[in-house]
Amino acid sequence: MINIRSSRELDKMTHTDTAFMYLAAMQHPDFRTICRFRSTHLDSIKDVFSQVVTVCKEMGMLGVGKISLDGTKIKANASVKQSKNADALDKEIDKILKESIEIDKAEDEMYGDSTPYQMPKELANKTKRLEKIKAAKKKLEDEKLEKINITDNDAKIMKHKDGSLKPSYNGQIAVDDKEQVIVAADLVTDTNDVNQIDPMIQLIWATMGYRPTILLADAGYFSYDNIDLLNQIGTDSYIPDNSFKVEERGKSKYFLKSMFRFDKENDCYYCPAGITMPFKWIQKRDDEPHLKQYIGDHCSICVLKNACTNAKKRIISRDPREHLMEEMRKRLRTKEGNELYQERMSTVEPVFGQMKQNRGFTEFLLRGKDKTKVEFILMCIVHNVEKIEGFLKRKAKDMKEVLRTGFSMDNLENIGEIMINCADKISFLGGIVVGSIFSNRIKSEVSFLLTF
Ligand code: SF4
Repeated sequence: MINIRSSRELDKMTHTDTAFMYLAAMQHPDFRTICRFRSTHLDSIKDVFSQVVTVCKEMGMLGVGKISLDGTKIKANASVKQSKNADALDKEIDKILKESIEIDKAEDEMYGDSTPYQMPKELANKTKRLEKIKAAKKKLEDEKLEKINITDNDAKIMKHKDGSLKPSYNGQIAVDDKEQVIVAADLVTDTNDVNQIDPMIQLIWATMGYRPTILLADAGYFSYDNIDLLNQIGTDSYIPDNSFKVEERGKSKYFLKSMFRFDKENDCYYCPAGITMPFKWIQKRDDEPHLKQYIGDHCSICVLKNACTNAKKRIISRDPREHLMEEMRKRLRTKEGNELYQERMSTVEPVFGQMKQNRGFTEFLLRGKDKTKVEFILMCIVHNVEKIEGFLKRKAKDMKEVLRTGFSMDNLENIGEIMINCADKISFLGGIVVGSIFSNRIKSEVSFLLTF
C-alpha cells in the first residue's frame, strides 16, 4: 500500500519499519528470496487473487454481475532499442563474433601458449550476449515474429496511449461495478484486446462461478465472434464497433453506411436518395466470411452523387454477420444503453489510473511472461485489498453514525449483517497478510508482497 515494489527495498524495510517487522513476524528474508518468490509462485499468487475476490464477494462488495473489461499496455523491463528483426540480429551476431576473434588474437599475443586462469571478462560478456541473441533469434524464427526484444523475449512492441512504441505487455482486468473490485486479471502478449473476451469470461467463471450478466467494453473488444459468443451465453453486452463513434459524430466526407437502409427480405439496400441498390456479387475473403456487395445503378444521374461517392457507382459491402453490429448499435443508442456504456469509464478506467498514476506501476521490474504476470496479479490483489480497506472504513463510519443517532430496526439489521459478514473475512485477510495460507518458508515473503 506504500508503493514499494523493489525486493531490496522490501528487504530493507524488514529491518527499519515496525509495520514490516510485524508483518514479517520479525523474519528478514533476503531480497533474492523475495525476488525468487515473485518469480516462481504464479499459481499461488493466482490462488491468493481468487481468495481475495471470494472475500469481497462474501462481504457483499460485488454487484449483480455488471462487469467492465479493459486492457492497458505496461512497459516491459527492456529498452525499445533491444527490439530487433532477423537482419539486425544477424548483424549483431557477426559483429560480436568479429570482436571476439579480435579479443582472442590480443589474448594470444599477450599470453602466448600459456592459458590465463579465467576467460577475459570482456570476452565472457560477449559470449553471454551472443547466447542471448542466438536464443532470441531462435524464438523469432520458431514463432515467426517480425521483431523480438533481446532483453525480454516475451515482450512485444505495443503502442501506448501517448503514441509511443515500447516493448510491453497487455494487462487485462474485469471490474465489478459495485465497489470496483477486480474479479479477473490476466497479462497477455497480444498487442490488441479483441481476443481477450473469451479468456476473461473463463477467468471470471473460474473465480466467481458465474458469467457476467452485463459486459461493458470499448471498441477494441468488438468482433462478430465476440458478440456472437456473448449472445450465446446470455450476457447483455455493450461494445461499440470501431466506426460507431465516427458514425455518431456524423463527420464524414461521403454519406455514411448507416444512412443506407438494408432490406433483408428483398436483399437490397435503399440509398439516401431512396433508390434501390440490388445485390450484385460476392467479394471473396481468405480468413473471413465473404462479403455481399450492393451497387447503385443510377449514381451517374444522381444529384446527390458528390456527397455520396467519388467513384462511378456507390458500393455497399455487407458481412453476413452484420446484423450483430446493427443490433449492438441499436442497444448503444438507447438511453439505457448509453448510460450503461458511460458507466464503464467510471468503473474500469480509474482502476488503471490508480495503478499507474498513484502507484507508479508503469514498468515491470521482472522479465518474461510468467514473472511479469505475477507482478501484474500482485498489483490487482493490492488494488482489491485496498478496496476492502475502504469498504470497511465506510462501514465503520456507518456504525459510528448508528451509535450516534441511535438504533432502529432497519439499521440494526443492516449493521448486524455487515459485522457478521466482515468478522471472519477480516481475520482471513489478516491471514493473508501474515502469510498463513502459505508454508512457513515463504510466509514472510507473501507478507511483504501484499504490503507495497
Ligand atoms: S450516388 Fe447513387 S447511391 Fe448515392 S445517393 Fe445517389 S443514387 Fe444513391
